[in-house]
Amino acid sequence: MDAKSVFATVALMVLANGAVLANVYRDLPGALRPAAIRWQAGTALVALGSAFFAFGSILPLPIMVTLANGTLLFGLGSYHRAFERFYGRRSAPVDVVVALAAAAGTFWLSAIDPCFICRVEMLSAAWTLLLLRSMWLLHAMRAQDESRSRRMLIVIYGLVVIYVIGRVVVYLHLDVPGETSIATNDYGINLVSPMFVALLPVIGTTAFVLLCTERVKRQLEIAAATDYLTGLPNRRTLVADGNWAFRRARETGAGLAVGVIDIDHFKAINDTYGHGVGDEVLAFTADCLKQAARKGDLVARTGGEEFVVLMDDLDLRAATAALERIRVAVADSRFSVDGTPVPITISAGVAGCEPRDRDFDDVFRRADRALYLAKLAGRDRVKQAVA
Ligand code: GH3
Ligand code: MG
Ligand code: MG
Repeated sequence: MDAKSVFATVALMVLANGAVLANVYRDLPGALRPAAIRWQAGTALVALGSAFFAFGSILPLPIMVTLANGTLLFGLGSYHRAFERFYGRRSAPVDVVVALAAAAGTFWLSAIDPCFICRVEMLSAAWTLLLLRSMWLLHAMRAQDESRSRRMLIVIYGLVVIYVIGRVVVYLHLDVPGETSIATNDYGINLVSPMFVALLPVIGTTAFVLLCTERVKRQLEIAAATDYLTGLPNRRTLVADGNWAFRRARETGAGLAVGVIDIDHFKAINDTYGHGVGDEVLAFTADCLKQAARKGDLVARTGGEEFVVLMDDLDLRAATAALERIRVAVADSRFSVDGTPVPITISAGVAGCEPRDRDFDDVFRRADRALYLAKLAGRDRVKQAVA
């Protein structure tokens, strides 16, 4: 196989891979599409650059190498923009400047002052710069994205960097005339280069698609565990955490308490100000509860205007005091609609884990009964579960 055929094969493979992404694209949520479009553009540019190497011999050599290398570098820049979009980073035009400068340099070093090795050195420097820039961005995102595909992309980019630098070393040991290109059959390494060019669009595209699907999966997991209105954990999360905390309390003998909270006369707020204001009151109260609760205690919205606080390592007395602090924090909070203050109060029932409790639900039910007593007693108060 000659170098041009390899480039032609690469161009086709890259296009086929681009088609896969184009297909998957329709399944991606809107927020990920701008990144996917940039990745597709990068893949189209790499395919075009490879096609210039494969079929560009009808053009004068300086034009062909300038177009081919310039297009490949713009493709690399487009991949970087895909990552920037994916992670919500602002774009800087470094890639455009580097690609334009390298294209101008390529033309100079092929038409005006032909020097093959100078061209390879300059283009390799441009590639390395753009590749390292993307690797750095992917590395910087490690805290917010623990996905394997992100790490896979760093490895793929790293391999291309190693190849680009290694290739310069190989060419330095070869005596290459000034007026040639990497798409000739004169050197074995010319056959290898196209395959490394294909690494990003082919394997990289797979990794990028995985990056997108992992993001979607994580978002779904978060959505399934969170209440959309308040951003608090939902009932499902409470039950899972509650069961786990109950087993832990049983094993270690540590205390565990549950507070069930309900907003007083919430229906009246809805009826007076409308459902929209009711929703704002729910979000406002959720923030109050979260701030007034101990750090690390789970505060969940379990439905309607009902919330639950799960308190590890607390006995009933301490938990009642904690709930009392929360109640006062809500009563002292200032919520208003168009300047009119809307008083918000809560009632709460609190129960501690007892030896006779069989599961978390037993503790929860006793706290709920105590809440009922708090309502009966006049609201805006905390009641302990009776043993
Ligand atoms: P009490 O002091 O006895 O708790 O009285 P209440 O009015 O707070 O309780 P009630 O159970 O009578 O009314 C709760 C209301 O909460 C009824 C329901 O329409 C409303 N509600 C439930 N979920 C939501 C929601 O997501 N948003 C809004 N705005 N209202 C909700
Ligand atoms: Mg209520
Ligand atoms: Mg209620």
